[in-house]
Amino acid sequence: MIANNLFLVNKNIPNGVRLVAVSKTKPIELIKEAYEAGERHFGENKATEMRDKALELPNDIKWHFIGHLQRNKVKYIISSVHLIHSIDSFRLLKEVNKEAAKQHKVVNCLLQFHIAKESSKFGFSLEEITELFKKESFTKLNHINIVGVMGMATFSEDEELVINEFKSLKDIFEVLKSSFYKGKEDFKEISMGMSGDYLLAIEEGATIVRIGSSIFGTRA
Ligand SMILES: *Cc1c(COP(=O)(O)O)cnc(C)c1O
Repeated sequence: MIANNLFLVNKNIPNGVRLVAVSKTKPIELIKEAYEAGERHFGENKATEMRDKALELPNDIKWHFIGHLQRNKVKYIISSVHLIHSIDSFRLLKEVNKEAAKQHKVVNCLLQFHIAKESSKFGFSLEEITELFKKESFTKLNHINIVGVMGMATFSEDEELVINEFKSLKDIFEVLKSSFYKGKEDFKEISMGMSGDYLLAIEEGATIVRIGSSIFGTRA
């Protein structure tokens, strides 16, 4: 069942776009099923849940943290995380840097931008990031590596709205790429698109899509 879902999703994903199978709330057995079907990138949104799953599952899995991350939970994920998608404040970034330093690691991160109409979604605005980049304390964070941007579109049937929100994230990426990250080759990721909108996201330039229910089903 999961193997078949993965096959169908993968058929829609072109080379060069990374699938992250969002396994939040899903039990170990279902993740194993996806692993046995060849999937290695999984996404979680609770720090202790990710830590516990990482301890139990094979260590060639690449764990992506995709949810709002509380600063007091950062310490749980540093040893297992492959990429943090959801950096949404400078204070969080500093905490990740601090914990990564303790573990002698450099952690790859994406900056989350608020692109949706809904006010509930976390993330920076371009203005906030521009201010942040001016801070000397930002340039001193040696244990984080910012490799791109992430965003969530409005949960809506209105395709034009969703497309415009994806375009706005792509624009933000291009602005950062041509200014602050000029010449930095590993600043290249645009994480956008979920089960309901990933085909549109890919059209608009996503390099990473985060897909849960189309792979694992909707039961929690
Ligand atoms: C749950 C979640 C997803 C996956 O959503 P589906 O609609 O199940 O594909 C993607 N990104 C984030 C940030 C999520 O929390």
